[in-house]
Amino acid sequence: MGPSSATQRIRSVTERIYMSSPDVGVLEEQFVVDALRSGWVAPLGPHVDAFEAEVASRAGVGHAVALSSGTAALHLGLVTLGVGSGDIVLTSTMTFVATANAIMYTGAEPYFVDCDPVTGEMDPALLAQALAELSAAGEHVAAIVPVDLLGKCVDYTSIERIATEYGVPLLADAAESLGANHRGRAAGSFGRASILSFNGNKIMTTSGGGMLLTDDEAFASQVRYLSTQARQPAVHYEHTEIGFNYRMSNLLAALGRAQLSRLDEMIARRRLHRERYKALFADVPGVEIFGAADDQHDNFWLTAIVVDPTVAGWEPSDLGDWLGEEAIESRPLWKPMHMQPVFADHRAALNGSSEALFRTGLTLPSGSALTPDQVRRVDERIGKFLEARR
Ligand SMILES: *Cc1c(COP(=O)(O)O)cnc(C)c1O
Repeated sequence: MGPSSATQRIRSVTERIYMSSPDVGVLEEQFVVDALRSGWVAPLGPHVDAFEAEVASRAGVGHAVALSSGTAALHLGLVTLGVGSGDIVLTSTMTFVATANAIMYTGAEPYFVDCDPVTGEMDPALLAQALAELSAAGEHVAAIVPVDLLGKCVDYTSIERIATEYGVPLLADAAESLGANHRGRAAGSFGRASILSFNGNKIMTTSGGGMLLTDDEAFASQVRYLSTQARQPAVHYEHTEIGFNYRMSNLLAALGRAQLSRLDEMIARRRLHRERYKALFADVPGVEIFGAADDQHDNFWLTAIVVDPTVAGWEPSDLGDWLGEEAIESRPLWKPMHMQPVFADHRAALNGSSEALFRTGLTLPSGSALTPDQVRRVDERIGKFLEARR
Protein backbone atom coordinates (compact mmCIF):
# COMPACT_ATOMS: atom_id res chain seq x y z
CA MET A 1 0.00 0.00 0.00
CA GLY A 2 1.32 3.43 -0.93
CA PRO A 3 0.93 6.53 1.20
CA SER A 4 -2.72 7.35 1.82
CA SER A 5 -4.21 10.24 -0.09
CA ALA A 6 -4.53 12.06 3.24
CA THR A 7 -0.74 11.84 3.77
CA GLN A 8 -0.14 13.07 0.26
CA ARG A 9 -2.46 15.99 0.77
CA ILE A 10 -0.69 16.98 3.99
CA ARG A 11 2.66 16.84 2.28
CA SER A 12 1.51 18.96 -0.63
CA VAL A 13 0.05 21.55 1.73
CA THR A 14 3.08 21.83 3.98
CA GLU A 15 5.74 21.54 1.27
CA ARG A 16 7.63 24.83 1.20
CA ILE A 17 7.47 26.93 -1.96
CA TYR A 18 10.72 28.74 -2.69
CA MET A 19 11.28 31.88 -4.74
CA SER A 20 13.69 30.15 -7.10
CA SER A 21 14.69 26.55 -6.56
CA PRO A 22 16.89 24.51 -8.90
CA ASP A 23 15.10 23.16 -11.98
CA VAL A 24 16.83 19.87 -12.71
CA GLY A 25 15.52 16.65 -14.22
CA VAL A 26 16.32 13.69 -16.39
CA LEU A 27 18.59 15.55 -18.82
CA GLU A 28 20.76 16.90 -16.00
CA GLU A 29 20.96 13.40 -14.53
CA GLN A 30 22.10 12.01 -17.89
CA PHE A 31 24.84 14.61 -18.27
CA VAL A 32 26.19 14.11 -14.75
CA VAL A 33 26.11 10.32 -15.06
CA ASP A 34 27.93 10.63 -18.39
CA ALA A 35 30.62 12.75 -16.74
CA LEU A 36 30.98 10.21 -13.91
CA ARG A 37 31.17 7.21 -16.26
CA SER A 38 33.65 8.95 -18.54
CA GLY A 39 36.14 8.90 -15.67
CA TRP A 40 36.63 12.69 -15.79
CA VAL A 41 35.93 13.17 -12.10
CA ALA A 42 39.21 14.91 -11.30
CA PRO A 43 38.37 18.58 -11.53
CA LEU A 44 39.00 19.45 -15.16
CA GLY A 45 37.78 17.63 -18.23
CA PRO A 46 35.93 17.88 -21.55
CA HIS A 47 32.65 19.15 -20.08
CA VAL A 48 34.45 22.21 -18.67
CA ASP A 49 35.85 23.10 -22.10
CA ALA A 50 32.52 22.48 -23.83
CA PHE A 51 30.55 24.40 -21.20
CA GLU A 52 32.86 27.40 -21.58
CA ALA A 53 32.53 27.34 -25.37
CA GLU A 54 28.73 27.04 -25.20
CA VAL A 55 28.24 29.87 -22.70
CA ALA A 56 30.70 32.11 -24.58
CA SER A 57 28.76 31.47 -27.77
CA ARG A 58 25.43 32.16 -26.05
CA ALA A 59 26.70 35.51 -24.73
CA GLY A 60 28.53 36.32 -27.95
CA VAL A 61 31.98 36.69 -26.40
CA GLY A 62 35.31 35.20 -27.36
CA HIS A 63 36.41 33.62 -24.09
CA ALA A 64 34.94 32.08 -20.95
CA VAL A 65 36.51 30.69 -17.79
CA ALA A 66 34.37 28.36 -15.65
CA LEU A 67 34.90 28.99 -11.94
CA SER A 68 33.69 27.74 -8.58
CA SER A 69 31.29 30.66 -8.00
CA GLY A 70 30.19 34.05 -9.23
CA THR A 71 31.98 35.54 -6.23
CA ALA A 72 35.24 33.89 -7.34
CA ALA A 73 34.69 35.29 -10.85
CA LEU A 74 34.24 38.80 -9.43
CA HIS A 75 37.34 38.40 -7.28
CA LEU A 76 39.57 37.22 -10.13
CA GLY A 77 38.10 39.79 -12.51
CA LEU A 78 39.07 42.56 -10.09
CA VAL A 79 42.53 41.09 -9.41
CA THR A 80 43.17 40.80 -13.15
CA LEU A 81 42.15 44.44 -13.61
CA GLY A 82 44.89 45.24 -11.11
CA VAL A 83 42.51 46.36 -8.36
CA GLY A 84 44.17 46.40 -4.96
CA SER A 85 44.47 48.21 -1.68
CA GLY A 86 44.22 51.99 -1.88
CA ASP A 87 41.89 51.77 -4.89
CA ILE A 88 38.24 52.70 -5.05
CA VAL A 89 35.70 50.51 -6.86
CA LEU A 90 32.34 52.03 -7.73
CA THR A 91 29.48 49.54 -7.52
CA SER A 92 25.70 49.34 -7.20
CA THR A 93 24.34 49.66 -3.68
CA MET A 94 21.34 47.62 -4.84
CA THR A 95 22.98 44.20 -5.04
CA PHE A 96 23.63 40.93 -3.28
CA VAL A 97 26.52 41.15 -0.81
CA ALA A 98 28.85 39.03 -3.00
CA THR A 99 29.63 42.01 -5.23
CA ALA A 100 30.84 44.12 -2.33
CA ASN A 101 32.59 41.21 -0.62
CA ALA A 102 34.70 40.51 -3.72
CA ILE A 103 35.82 44.15 -3.75
CA MET A 104 36.81 43.83 -0.06
CA TYR A 105 38.90 40.69 -0.80
CA THR A 106 41.18 42.81 -3.01
CA GLY A 107 41.76 45.38 -0.27
CA ALA A 108 40.06 48.08 -2.35
CA GLU A 109 37.31 50.31 -1.01
CA PRO A 110 33.78 49.81 -2.34
CA TYR A 111 31.96 53.07 -3.06
CA PHE A 112 28.22 52.53 -3.47
CA VAL A 113 26.12 54.18 -6.15
CA ASP A 114 22.35 54.48 -5.81
CA CYS A 115 19.80 53.49 -8.42
CA ASP A 116 17.06 54.57 -10.75
CA PRO A 117 13.79 54.69 -8.74
CA VAL A 118 11.90 52.52 -11.24
CA THR A 119 14.39 49.91 -12.46
CA GLY A 120 16.60 49.72 -9.37
CA GLU A 121 19.64 49.77 -11.68
CA MET A 122 22.74 51.92 -11.08
CA ASP A 123 21.88 55.55 -11.86
CA PRO A 124 24.29 56.73 -14.61
CA ALA A 125 23.97 60.41 -13.61
CA LEU A 126 24.94 59.58 -10.04
CA LEU A 127 27.84 57.45 -11.28
CA ALA A 128 29.12 60.36 -13.39
CA GLN A 129 28.79 62.70 -10.43
CA ALA A 130 30.74 60.35 -8.15
CA LEU A 131 33.50 59.96 -10.76
CA ALA A 132 33.73 63.73 -11.24
CA GLU A 133 34.04 64.31 -7.49
CA LEU A 134 36.57 61.54 -6.92
CA SER A 135 38.77 62.54 -9.83
CA ALA A 136 38.64 66.19 -8.73
CA ALA A 137 39.83 65.03 -5.30
CA GLY A 138 42.66 63.10 -6.94
CA GLU A 139 41.39 59.68 -5.81
CA HIS A 140 42.00 56.59 -7.93
CA VAL A 141 38.95 54.70 -9.15
CA ALA A 142 40.25 51.34 -10.38
CA ALA A 143 37.02 49.79 -11.64
CA ILE A 144 33.26 50.17 -11.98
CA VAL A 145 31.13 47.11 -11.17
CA PRO A 146 27.52 47.69 -12.23
CA VAL A 147 25.02 44.97 -11.30
CA ASP A 148 22.22 43.66 -13.54
CA LEU A 149 19.39 43.54 -11.02
CA LEU A 150 16.95 40.59 -10.90
CA GLY A 151 17.49 39.65 -14.55
CA LYS A 152 17.52 43.05 -16.24
CA CYS A 153 20.64 44.67 -17.70
CA VAL A 154 21.80 48.05 -16.42
CA ASP A 155 21.87 50.98 -18.87
CA TYR A 156 25.18 49.90 -20.42
CA THR A 157 24.89 52.51 -23.18
CA SER A 158 25.22 55.31 -20.61
CA ILE A 159 27.51 53.48 -18.17
CA GLU A 160 30.01 52.42 -20.87
CA ARG A 161 30.12 56.00 -22.18
CA ILE A 162 30.85 57.38 -18.69
CA ALA A 163 33.44 54.68 -17.95
CA THR A 164 35.23 55.44 -21.23
CA GLU A 165 35.14 59.17 -20.54
CA TYR A 166 36.96 58.63 -17.23
CA GLY A 167 39.16 55.80 -18.51
CA VAL A 168 37.94 53.38 -15.84
CA PRO A 169 37.46 49.68 -16.74
CA LEU A 170 34.06 48.05 -16.35
CA LEU A 171 33.54 44.63 -14.76
CA ALA A 172 29.87 43.74 -15.27
CA ASP A 173 28.12 41.70 -12.56
CA ALA A 174 25.72 39.71 -14.74
CA ALA A 175 25.20 37.03 -12.06
CA GLU A 176 21.42 37.43 -12.31
CA SER A 177 20.97 38.28 -15.98
CA LEU A 178 22.12 35.40 -18.21
CA GLY A 179 19.72 35.32 -21.18
CA ALA A 180 18.76 39.01 -20.85
CA ASN A 181 19.97 41.71 -23.22
CA HIS A 182 20.52 45.45 -23.47
CA ARG A 183 19.39 46.81 -26.84
CA GLY A 184 20.03 43.43 -28.44
CA ARG A 185 23.45 42.88 -26.87
CA ALA A 186 23.53 39.84 -24.59
CA ALA A 187 24.10 40.07 -20.85
CA GLY A 188 27.62 38.88 -20.12
CA SER A 189 29.12 40.66 -23.13
CA PHE A 190 29.73 44.08 -21.54
CA GLY A 191 32.80 45.76 -20.10
CA ARG A 192 36.37 44.44 -20.06
CA ALA A 193 34.81 41.33 -18.58
CA SER A 194 31.46 40.13 -17.19
CA ILE A 195 30.72 37.52 -14.57
CA LEU A 196 27.90 34.98 -14.24
CA SER A 197 26.69 32.91 -11.31
CA PHE A 198 25.34 29.37 -11.48
CA ASN A 199 24.37 29.20 -7.82
CA GLY A 200 21.35 27.04 -7.00
CA ASN A 201 18.84 29.90 -7.00
CA LYS A 202 19.93 31.53 -10.26
CA ILE A 203 18.27 31.27 -13.69
CA MET A 204 20.35 28.14 -14.35
CA THR A 205 22.59 26.27 -11.97
CA THR A 206 25.60 24.02 -11.63
CA SER A 207 24.60 23.66 -7.93
CA GLY A 208 27.41 26.11 -7.25
CA GLY A 209 29.53 27.80 -9.89
CA GLY A 210 30.32 30.89 -11.88
CA MET A 211 32.02 32.12 -15.00
CA LEU A 212 34.06 35.02 -16.29
CA LEU A 213 33.38 36.15 -19.86
CA THR A 214 35.55 38.45 -21.95
CA ASP A 215 36.62 39.20 -25.50
CA ASP A 216 40.17 39.75 -24.28
CA GLU A 217 42.17 36.53 -24.66
CA ALA A 218 45.01 37.66 -22.39
CA PHE A 219 42.49 38.59 -19.67
CA ALA A 220 40.86 35.14 -19.89
CA SER A 221 44.15 33.26 -19.71
CA GLN A 222 45.28 35.31 -16.71
CA VAL A 223 42.02 34.44 -14.91
CA ARG A 224 42.43 30.77 -15.84
CA TYR A 225 46.00 30.81 -14.54
CA LEU A 226 45.09 32.52 -11.25
CA SER A 227 42.15 30.13 -10.74
CA THR A 228 44.40 27.07 -10.79
CA GLN A 229 46.95 28.13 -8.13
CA ALA A 230 49.02 30.29 -10.52
CA ARG A 231 51.14 27.40 -11.78
CA GLN A 232 53.91 28.29 -14.18
CA PRO A 233 54.37 25.68 -16.92
CA ALA A 234 57.05 23.54 -15.29
CA VAL A 235 56.85 19.87 -14.24
CA HIS A 236 57.65 20.76 -10.66
CA TYR A 237 55.00 23.56 -10.50
CA GLU A 238 56.88 26.84 -10.40
CA HIS A 239 55.09 29.70 -8.62
CA THR A 240 55.86 33.38 -8.99
CA GLU A 241 52.65 34.80 -7.52
CA ILE A 242 49.76 33.91 -5.23
CA GLY A 243 47.00 31.92 -6.92
CA PHE A 244 43.58 30.59 -6.04
CA ASN A 245 41.71 27.30 -6.26
CA TYR A 246 38.66 28.64 -8.06
CA ARG A 247 38.16 26.34 -11.06
CA MET A 248 34.84 24.61 -11.82
CA SER A 249 34.83 20.82 -11.82
CA ASN A 250 33.96 18.64 -14.80
CA LEU A 251 30.95 17.09 -13.01
CA LEU A 252 29.40 20.49 -12.38
CA ALA A 253 30.15 21.69 -15.90
CA ALA A 254 28.22 18.65 -17.19
CA LEU A 255 25.23 19.76 -15.12
CA GLY A 256 25.68 23.28 -16.52
CA ARG A 257 25.60 22.07 -20.12
CA ALA A 258 22.29 20.32 -19.57
CA GLN A 259 20.91 23.45 -17.92
CA LEU A 260 22.16 25.72 -20.70
CA SER A 261 20.40 23.60 -23.31
CA ARG A 262 17.16 24.28 -21.38
CA LEU A 263 17.80 27.96 -20.65
CA ASP A 264 15.24 29.35 -23.11
CA GLU A 265 12.59 26.95 -21.89
CA MET A 266 13.31 27.96 -18.29
CA ILE A 267 13.17 31.66 -19.17
CA ALA A 268 9.82 31.07 -20.91
CA ARG A 269 8.42 29.52 -17.71
CA ARG A 270 9.62 32.42 -15.61
CA ARG A 271 8.06 34.81 -18.11
CA LEU A 272 4.70 33.11 -17.52
CA HIS A 273 5.00 33.81 -13.78
CA ARG A 274 5.58 37.49 -14.61
CA GLU A 275 2.42 37.48 -16.78
CA ARG A 276 0.43 35.78 -14.00
CA TYR A 277 1.51 38.29 -11.38
CA LYS A 278 0.75 41.15 -13.78
CA ALA A 279 -2.79 39.86 -14.18
CA LEU A 280 -3.17 39.13 -10.46
CA PHE A 281 -2.18 42.67 -9.41
CA ALA A 282 -3.54 44.52 -12.47
CA ASP A 283 -6.47 46.15 -10.68
CA VAL A 284 -4.83 46.56 -7.30
CA PRO A 285 -4.28 50.24 -6.51
CA GLY A 286 -0.80 51.14 -5.28
CA VAL A 287 0.87 47.97 -6.61
CA GLU A 288 3.22 47.82 -9.61
CA ILE A 289 5.27 44.98 -11.05
CA PHE A 290 8.87 45.98 -10.32
CA GLY A 291 10.70 47.15 -13.45
CA ALA A 292 8.07 45.74 -15.79
CA ALA A 293 7.62 48.92 -17.83
CA ASP A 294 10.39 47.40 -19.96
CA ASP A 295 10.39 43.64 -19.67
CA GLN A 296 11.22 42.97 -23.32
CA HIS A 297 14.89 42.50 -22.51
CA ASP A 298 14.51 40.66 -19.23
CA ASN A 299 15.32 37.05 -18.36
CA PHE A 300 12.51 37.19 -15.75
CA TRP A 301 14.77 35.70 -13.09
CA LEU A 302 12.66 37.05 -10.23
CA THR A 303 9.36 38.92 -10.29
CA ALA A 304 8.80 41.46 -7.55
CA ILE A 305 6.04 43.92 -6.76
CA VAL A 306 6.45 47.45 -5.47
CA VAL A 307 3.77 48.55 -3.02
CA ASP A 308 2.81 52.11 -2.15
CA PRO A 309 1.29 51.51 1.31
CA THR A 310 -0.49 54.89 1.37
CA VAL A 311 -2.50 53.87 -1.69
CA ALA A 312 -2.70 50.10 -1.20
CA GLY A 313 -3.54 50.29 2.51
CA TRP A 314 -1.06 47.51 3.33
CA GLU A 315 2.67 47.02 3.63
CA PRO A 316 4.65 44.56 1.48
CA SER A 317 5.58 42.80 4.73
CA ASP A 318 1.85 42.18 5.41
CA LEU A 319 1.68 40.11 2.22
CA GLY A 320 5.08 38.56 2.98
CA ASP A 321 3.89 37.41 6.43
CA TRP A 322 0.62 36.11 4.98
CA LEU A 323 2.52 34.03 2.39
CA GLY A 324 4.99 32.87 5.04
CA GLU A 325 2.15 31.39 7.10
CA GLU A 326 1.51 29.02 4.19
CA ALA A 327 5.23 28.22 3.77
CA ILE A 328 5.50 30.38 0.66
CA GLU A 329 8.79 32.22 0.39
CA SER A 330 8.94 35.91 -0.49
CA ARG A 331 11.50 38.55 0.38
CA PRO A 332 12.19 42.28 0.25
CA LEU A 333 14.42 43.43 -2.60
CA TRP A 334 18.14 43.38 -1.73
CA LYS A 335 18.88 45.46 1.34
CA PRO A 336 21.15 48.17 -0.10
CA MET A 337 24.82 47.67 0.73
CA HIS A 338 25.21 51.15 2.23
CA MET A 339 22.53 50.16 4.81
CA GLN A 340 24.37 46.96 5.78
CA PRO A 341 26.18 47.23 9.13
CA VAL A 342 29.35 45.68 7.67
CA PHE A 343 29.63 48.47 5.06
CA ALA A 344 28.34 51.35 7.20
CA ASP A 345 31.74 53.07 7.13
CA HIS A 346 31.98 53.15 3.34
CA ARG A 347 31.09 56.04 1.13
CA ALA A 348 28.03 56.16 -1.09
CA ALA A 349 26.39 58.44 -3.63
CA LEU A 350 22.72 58.34 -2.64
CA ASN A 351 19.40 59.59 -3.98
CA GLY A 352 16.93 57.73 -1.71
CA SER A 353 15.78 55.30 -4.43
CA SER A 354 17.35 52.09 -3.15
CA GLU A 355 16.10 52.78 0.39
CA ALA A 356 12.59 53.37 -0.97
CA LEU A 357 12.71 50.15 -3.01
CA PHE A 358 13.94 48.22 0.01
CA ARG A 359 10.91 49.49 1.97
CA THR A 360 8.35 48.89 -0.78
CA GLY A 361 9.53 45.87 -2.78
CA LEU A 362 8.56 42.22 -2.36
CA THR A 363 10.00 39.39 -4.45
CA LEU A 364 7.62 36.52 -5.21
CA PRO A 365 8.06 32.83 -6.15
CA SER A 366 9.34 32.92 -9.73
CA GLY A 367 11.25 29.68 -10.31
CA SER A 368 10.95 27.59 -13.45
CA ALA A 369 10.59 24.45 -11.32
CA LEU A 370 7.33 25.58 -9.68
CA THR A 371 4.64 22.95 -10.30
CA PRO A 372 1.12 23.86 -11.45
CA ASP A 373 -0.07 22.89 -7.98
CA GLN A 374 2.42 25.22 -6.30
CA VAL A 375 1.47 28.05 -8.66
CA ARG A 376 -2.18 27.50 -7.74
CA ARG A 377 -1.32 27.64 -4.02
CA VAL A 378 0.51 30.95 -4.47
CA ASP A 379 -2.27 32.47 -6.57
CA GLU A 380 -4.99 31.42 -4.16
CA ARG A 381 -3.10 32.73 -1.17
CA ILE A 382 -2.45 36.11 -2.81
CA GLY A 383 -6.05 36.21 -4.08
CA LYS A 384 -7.41 35.76 -0.54
CA PHE A 385 -5.09 38.48 0.76
CA LEU A 386 -6.25 40.95 -1.87
CA GLU A 387 -9.94 40.04 -1.46
CA ALA A 388 -9.81 40.79 2.25
CA ARG A 389 -8.47 44.26 1.49
CA ARG A 390 -10.70 45.29 -1.35
C1 LIG B 1 24.40 35.41 -6.83
C2 LIG B 1 25.11 36.69 -7.05
C3 LIG B 1 26.50 36.78 -6.95
C4 LIG B 1 27.37 35.66 -6.44
O1 LIG B 1 27.34 34.51 -7.12
P1 LIG B 1 27.75 33.13 -6.36
O2 LIG B 1 27.82 32.18 -7.48
O3 LIG B 1 26.64 32.85 -5.40
O4 LIG B 1 29.05 33.36 -5.69
C5 LIG B 1 27.12 37.98 -7.26
N1 LIG B 1 26.39 39.05 -7.62
C6 LIG B 1 25.04 39.02 -7.69
C7 LIG B 1 24.32 40.26 -8.10
C8 LIG B 1 24.35 37.85 -7.38
O5 LIG B 1 23.03 37.83 -7.40
